[in-house]
Amino acid sequence: MLSVDQVLNKSQASLIGMHPVVKEKVRELIIRCYAASILILITSGFRSFSEQAAIFAKGRDNYGKVVRPKDVVSNARPGRSMHNYGLAADYVLLMPDGKSVSWSTVRDGNHNGHKDWFEVAEIAKSLGFEWGGDWDRFVDMPHIQMSFGLTIEELCSGLRPPTEQPVMKPKPIAISIKVNGKSVIDGTLINGAVFVPIRCIGEELGGAIGWDNAAKKPTINGELVMETAIINGSAFVPIRSVSEGLGANVIWCTAERSVTVEK
Ligand SMILES: [Zn+2]
Repeated sequence: MLSVDQVLNKSQASLIGMHPVVKEKVRELIIRCYAASILILITSGFRSFSEQAAIFAKGRDNYGKVVRPKDVVSNARPGRSMHNYGLAADYVLLMPDGKSVSWSTVRDGNHNGHKDWFEVAEIAKSLGFEWGGDWDRFVDMPHIQMSFGLTIEELCSGLRPPTEQPVMKPKPIAISIKVNGKSVIDGTLINGAVFVPIRCIGEELGGAIGWDNAAKKPTINGELVMETAIINGSAFVPIRSVSEGLGANVIWCTAERSVTVEK
């Protein structure tokens, strides 16, 4: 079984030259897929205009006219693909041996009754990507992109997305929290969910806390905690999912703004 680090490393070269925000999102996609027991490999990220010209030329004559339809891999001339601005990536399923890949869109390698290829697309969309499989004119199943609302015309004319994502500062709303009858440090409400410092809850409920450097996320009993907020240098996690994952009951009292966790 490959580690998440090993899986990330295999795509490292393809991420060079990508827009920094999109690159982080692609890494997040690889990590989330890994957590869903799906390994993916990024086969293409940033493409220069000359690389795009070579790809566009496949199956076409010197005038760009299609002469061998089977060989055509792209309809985008140089500058007309989101890849040319580092805003797109192509994925393929990576087999457990870490060497071979599968282009099958019906494979269900994690045996959950859903096709892995489409699960990856769903995860990508949840991260804000547009998926080429949803296009009607030229269906591009391996392709995901993030355009920040810019059209290809705007990119061609020189507009570029910001290189930093606006930081969403969580607005702290104190929630009193009791774990096994003991008061712990106050929780924080983020997007309607109560978050607590992972150490306050994991250890009290008998979970071993760790940190995965590659994924930049905390772990409990070796499992990555996907939903994490870093506040003042501490990792905060949603109290409900983490407590329930450790076999505890969670009771939320709206009137008192309190959460009681019992195990
Ligand atoms: Zn693509």
